[in-house]
Amino acid sequence: MIPYGKQQLDAEDIAAVTTVLHSTWLTQGPQVPAFEQAISEYCGANHAVAVNSATSALHIACLALGVGPGDRVWTSPISFVASANCALYCGATVDFVDIDPNTANMSIHALEEKLVEANKSNMLPKLVIPVHFAGQSCEMEKIAILASKYGFKVIEDASHAIGAQYQDRPVGSCQYSDICIFSFHPVKIITSGEGGMALTNQSDLARKMQMLRSHGITSESEEFTEESHGPWYYQQLLLGFNYRMTDIQAALGLSQFKKLTQFITARNTLALQYNQLLHAHPSIIPLQVQAACYSSYHLYIVKLSGITPDKHKACVEHLRKKGIVGHVHYIPIYLQPFYKKMGFQRGYCEQAEHYYQQAITLPLFPELTTEQQFYIIQELIYASTQIA
Ligand SMILES: *Cc1c(COP(=O)(O)O)cnc(C)c1O
Repeated sequence: MIPYGKQQLDAEDIAAVTTVLHSTWLTQGPQVPAFEQAISEYCGANHAVAVNSATSALHIACLALGVGPGDRVWTSPISFVASANCALYCGATVDFVDIDPNTANMSIHALEEKLVEANKSNMLPKLVIPVHFAGQSCEMEKIAILASKYGFKVIEDASHAIGAQYQDRPVGSCQYSDICIFSFHPVKIITSGEGGMALTNQSDLARKMQMLRSHGITSESEEFTEESHGPWYYQQLLLGFNYRMTDIQAALGLSQFKKLTQFITARNTLALQYNQLLHAHPSIIPLQVQAACYSSYHLYIVKLSGITPDKHKACVEHLRKKGIVGHVHYIPIYLQPFYKKMGFQRGYCEQAEHYYQQAITLPLFPELTTEQQFYIIQELIYASTQIA
């Protein structure tokens, strides 16, 4: 089977992990801060806080911004469930902003319309979480303008988008957001096994997230609210968690990071080749990448225009029969049974549902070969034209 994505590890990665296993620290050693520093420098953000997953990063990012019961959080329906669940962990409510069908990113137009309505009824969100879908940044400058007009905070869910650029700056610079989070799950661009990171330019948010990832505890004497009992002393100031990244994970992440540019270049080359192979087939439409964006191409997605849901399903089934893992990213989050129980219904975000019935994710990872691409496109064209 050709998977839709997979990690690429080499001898250097394995050596980096082995070195940690021979060292004094398995967790909270020198590798975690080294990984944090490498990523924050690369992105041009002041601070980076490494944790054990992007899901954890989203959770503590929401908490650091003060999201709690009574607050509203808005995100995109075309994302992984973690983009929405983080708000519920904090006791807030979640709502969804429809997508732009050309990019499958949150639509700025839909966001603005929803804000105008929410403003009338005093139901403005405290936080908006745009998701850089498939590796393409959302229109962050416009989101930032709306954020200051309507007074909400912004967390970028950049789980797909490390190595991507927006307006010639790396995603993760936090120029237009409060916090930006990355995922290092094996299917993402670079991996630490499991892992995530939260970047920010605000030192108070960084410090809060550092404490929240480790039980809400501090050992810094200048932060103590009472006199120290002695050199063993620490204080718990917040209700935190054990969301720490291990040194084993950080060593792998740091080693993988050295290959980030190489991976992104390979992904872009392969995506371009897919685009060229599809040029003569106007009913198979790749997601657009906008001029201000350089995508990390976490996912390569096409839309089969005018296709029925039955035929869409048959196409994916045909690909699987031929040894190709076609996938669909994503089921609109609010159509999950858990979210439907909150009252969300079919038809809530029209563009998202329309997109969901047309989209197919094709395999894309740095080691994919040109021959495999020919084969995949040949089978996709066969499926979309021949299968009724
Ligand atoms: C993968 C992913 C996450 C969660 O990442 P983990 O590191 O697996 O917790 C969150 N949001 C999006 C958009 C993702 O694709």
